[in-house]
Amino acid sequence: MHELSLATHLVELAGQTASRERAQRVLTVKLRVGLLADVSVEALQFAYEVATADTLLAGSRLEVEEVPVTVFCEQCQTEAVLPSIQNFRCPECNMPTENVLSGRELEIAWIELE
Ligand SMILES: [Zn+2]
Repeated sequence: MHELSLATHLVELAGQTASRERAQRVLTVKLRVGLLADVSVEALQFAYEVATADTLLAGSRLEVEEVPVTVFCEQCQTEAVLPSIQNFRCPECNMPTENVLSGRELEIAWIELE
């Protein structure tokens, strides 16, 4: 039920923003989710509908942008996007790497209010 607590948290955050901006309701929440954040987008969409019922977010849309995993390779001195999160190796030189630059995101990108 990790997704439900995340959805509840989103409702709180977006609700706070809406009341601060004196908005009537929230239309869209755009979320950035890294592939390493361990979130099931499908489960989150379902949980979001449950969590937003009878709130300022009722009927709003949850847009999820999945952020790929990028690493920095010491060998190549360059950034690379991992083709698979099962394999933490530089796609160029195949050196193992643990320098994760992105892919752990779990943040609201923007909120559309009315
Ligand atoms: Zn490399």
